[in-house]
Amino acid sequence: MNLTAAELLERQSTGDLSAEAITQSFLARIQQVEPKLRSFLAVDEAGALEQARAIDAKRRRGDAMGILAGVPIAIKDVICVQGQRATAGSKMLEAFVPPYDAHVITRLKEADAILIGKSNCDEFAMGSSTENSAYQTTRNPWDLERTPGGSSGGSAAAVAASEAPLALGTDTGGSIRQPAGLCGIVGLKPSYGRVSRFGLIAYGSSLDQCGPFAHDVRDSALLLEVIAGHDSRDSTSVDRPVPQYAKVVESPVQALVIGVPREFFNQPGAQATGGLDAEVERSVRDALKVYESLGATIKEISLPHSPYSVAVYYLVATAEASSNLARYDGVHFGHRAKEFAGLIDMMKKSRGEGFGAEVKRRIMLGTYALSSGYIDAYYLKALKVRRLIRQDFDRAFAECDVIVGPTSPTAAFKIGEKTGDPLAMYLSDIYTISANLAGICGISIPCGLTKTGLPIGLQILGAPFTEEKLLRIARMYERETDWHKRRPAV
Ligand code: GLN
Repeated sequence: MNLTAAELLERQSTGDLSAEAITQSFLARIQQVEPKLRSFLAVDEAGALEQARAIDAKRRRGDAMGILAGVPIAIKDVICVQGQRATAGSKMLEAFVPPYDAHVITRLKEADAILIGKSNCDEFAMGSSTENSAYQTTRNPWDLERTPGGSSGGSAAAVAASEAPLALGTDTGGSIRQPAGLCGIVGLKPSYGRVSRFGLIAYGSSLDQCGPFAHDVRDSALLLEVIAGHDSRDSTSVDRPVPQYAKVVESPVQALVIGVPREFFNQPGAQATGGLDAEVERSVRDALKVYESLGATIKEISLPHSPYSVAVYYLVATAEASSNLARYDGVHFGHRAKEFAGLIDMMKKSRGEGFGAEVKRRIMLGTYALSSGYIDAYYLKALKVRRLIRQDFDRAFAECDVIVGPTSPTAAFKIGEKTGDPLAMYLSDIYTISANLAGICGISIPCGLTKTGLPIGLQILGAPFTEEKLLRIARMYERETDWHKRRPAV
């Protein structure tokens, strides 16, 4: 079923479709394409059908319906759903069945959405290709030889291939926007504090945010409206009113000023940081022309510290990961080795067996950056540069409404292409990472296809808590183009 969430809601209200028929159709699609794509770690067929029937019964009774009634959604496997295994893509959590729902899941249940399954991801959300999952490699529906991006690659592939109209992901350094870009769909990273992380398996706590994947901006607005808002169980969640995103998304922003960072593009004689591909650059420049034709002013700006963002991120994120992942010791949480000699040996073996290579690398890097003697030179220095990165954005947003550029330097890369070179993999996040360091919001929307038919993402960044404006601006472009309507042939 190729319909968007808005269309599914409409068809149910007119009586054309039931939630059960919708669910059955998506389950059939999953069965058809999963052998090729492997987007899901678990599909809850029985549970989804049961939810659908309950929603249909509710409608028959004439009860008030939730705002996502009867719409299936895929959930990244770092998000806890009561009674369903949450592995975070790791062997460490192979047997973990959360006894509670994450805040975002409670919200989805209240909205009558249908939880259709848990989607694949890089282990503990560490990666940019979903190849770090301990269970399987998800493929890009546009080209099965290529990765869907990561770490929320399963969620992005599921939506792109119409296995589900919506999905949730998490974004610590780009893990929603980058896979959305590489899979030709819309992905939004909310501002830090906009969405509660209660019930999310933590990676980098000063960076993590949960957000929507969808086919278009309208559906993204709808899903954000459901999950955003204050929750006392996450002390970083901010108590600010949640706008009616889905309603306001249609009104264009007047006198729009778009900032374009010179550091993001190739200059005569100098390549952009991260090596921007010429085809990607052309599509982004074309998108800017669309905005110009709508009356927007394009203004060159500078984010002078953006070249340091990858370096800063890999100190801050690894430091926080080393601390967050300390709880997986075979006692508090996680896999426990079968044979050991004493407590220390048990912990060593449990962690050695439970974690994959990339997670171990990050724990070691982070522990080193925090160790006495090095903390000043690495971690604390990184925090200072992080502040400068935030100040760059504050200055920029004083002169423009949003900042526009590419989501990723290239279209989807081949499976295996970067696995041997962690640094090359890290550099693929060059444009997304600074938003997490600064706590601002960002969205990736489809803006083109390469000559070989791979999607290209346009990233739009907004000041903290301006999701409403961000969505309206993204929708302005979407109305003029049809990239979001293209579907892969899988
Ligand atoms: N690719 C980045 C990393 O590996 C970002 C991941 C994320 O946003 N979860 O850490």
